[in-house]
Amino acid sequence: MSGKKSVTIIGAGTAGLLAARELSRRNIHTIVYDQKRELGLPVRASGILSIKGLGELGIYYSRAITNTLYGANIHAGGTKLRIKANAPVAHVLDRKKLNDICHDEALASGSKVVLGKRMDAKTFESLSANDIMIGADGAVSSVAKHFSMGEIRRYILTYKAEFNISAEDSGIVDLFFDNKISKGLFGWFCPNRSDILEIGIGIDSRYGNAKTAFEKFIATDYVSKTISGSRRISEGASIIPMSLREKIVDTKKEVLLVGDAAGQVKPSTGGGIIYGGNAALMAARTIQDHLNKGASLSEYTTMYNRKYSIDTAIHRLTNAIYSSIGSDKLGVAVKIMKAMQLGRLLGKYGDMDMPSLILRNMLISAAGGR
Ligand SMILES: Cc1cc2nc3c(=O)[nH]c(=O)nc-3n(C[C@H](O)[C@H](O)[C@H](O)COP(=O)(O)OP(=O)(O)OC[C@H]3O[C@@H](n4cnc5c(N)ncnc54)[C@H](O)[C@@H]3O)c2cc1C
Repeated sequence: MSGKKSVTIIGAGTAGLLAARELSRRNIHTIVYDQKRELGLPVRASGILSIKGLGELGIYYSRAITNTLYGANIHAGGTKLRIKANAPVAHVLDRKKLNDICHDEALASGSKVVLGKRMDAKTFESLSANDIMIGADGAVSSVAKHFSMGEIRRYILTYKAEFNISAEDSGIVDLFFDNKISKGLFGWFCPNRSDILEIGIGIDSRYGNAKTAFEKFIATDYVSKTISGSRRISEGASIIPMSLREKIVDTKKEVLLVGDAAGQVKPSTGGGIIYGGNAALMAARTIQDHLNKGASLSEYTTMYNRKYSIDTAIHRLTNAIYSSIGSDKLGVAVKIMKAMQLGRLLGKYGDMDMPSLILRNMLISAAGGR
C-alpha cells in the first residue's frame, strides 16, 4: 500500500484539470500547478470534439459551443468526397472557454489550482517524494523527460489562422490531403462561427516547417479563392505528439502521464482531448484503487490499452496510408470511395473516435439491429 496520500498534477490543460476534478470527487487531496497566469491562452489548437466523446468526459461544455458539425469534405487530387450524417456528430468548442469550464469544475470539486508557477526537475523530485505525481504538461513534457518515460517518436508541426469569412457550409469541415504540402497530416477549414473560418495545416516535423506549409496551402487556387478579400484575425504555431510514450506510468516512483504528455492522441487527425480526457478519468480511478486497495498503478496502462489500442492502430494505419501515397493516387482513391458511395456509409455508421465501431455498427444494422 502506498504511503502517499495526495496527488500533485503538473499542467492545467484539459487533461490535468479533468484528472484533478475526478480525484477530488473521490476525496483525494489534489493540487495542480501551471506555469501560465491565464489558462487556455494563447489558443493554438482547434476545438472539434465528437458529441459522443464529450458525453464520456462529463463536462458541462454547452457554453463553450461555437458551432455544430454534421460531417466533412475530403479533398484530394482535385476530387471531393462528402461525408455527411443526418444528425450532428461534433461540436466546435471555444478552447479557452473549455479550459475555463474544466478549471471551474476542478475547483468546485475541491482541487487547488496554483497558476503562474513553472515546475522544474528539482521540484519534481521533492514533490514526487511525498505525493503521487501526474504529468499533464503537454506534448514536450518535462515530467516525462525527468522520469525517463520514453520519447514521442513523431511530432506534427501545426500552423493555423482565423479569417473573417463564412464557410460555404457551416456544418462541414474540409480536409485537404496533399503530400507535397502537408505530408503526415492535412490542411483544414473549420467554421468556428458563422462568420469565422479557421484555416490550418499540419506537417510531420521530418518533412518541413508548418509556417512555410501554411503559406503554400493558402496560395493554392482553392484556398486563395476562398480567402480572397478577407482578413487574418489571429494566427500561431503549435505541436501535436503522434505516438504514445513507451511508459505512461512509473509504478516505483508513482508517476503517471496523461494527455499530450503521454502522447494520447488519435494519430489520424491529431485530436487529443477525448483520448487524453478519458485517460485522465482512468488515471483517477486507478489512483483511488491504489490508495484504498493497494492495486497496482499499472492498471492505468491496462485500462488505456484495453479501450484504445485497436482504434489507435486503425488511426495510425489510416495516417500511414494517406501520408505515403501521392496526391494523384489519393485523388483516385477518393474517386473510388465516391463511386462506392462510401461517403453515405461513413456518414451513417462512422465514429470519429472509435473507427472499430464502424464495422460493428454496419454488421448490427445488416443483422436488423437498427
Ligand atoms: C492545431 C491543433 C489543432 C488541434 N485540434 C484539436 C481538435 O480539434 N480536437 C481535439 O480533440 N484535439 C485537438 N488538438 C489536440 C489538443 O489540443 C491537445 O490534445 C490537448 O490540448 C492536450 O491537452 P493537455 O491538457 O494534455 O495538454 P496542454 O493543453 O498542452 O496543457 C499542458 C499545460 O501544462 C502547462 N505546463 C507545461 N509545462 C509546465 C511546467 N513545467 N510547469 C507548470 N506547468 C506546465 C502548460 O502551461 C499547459 O497549460 C489540436 C492540437 C493542435 C496543435
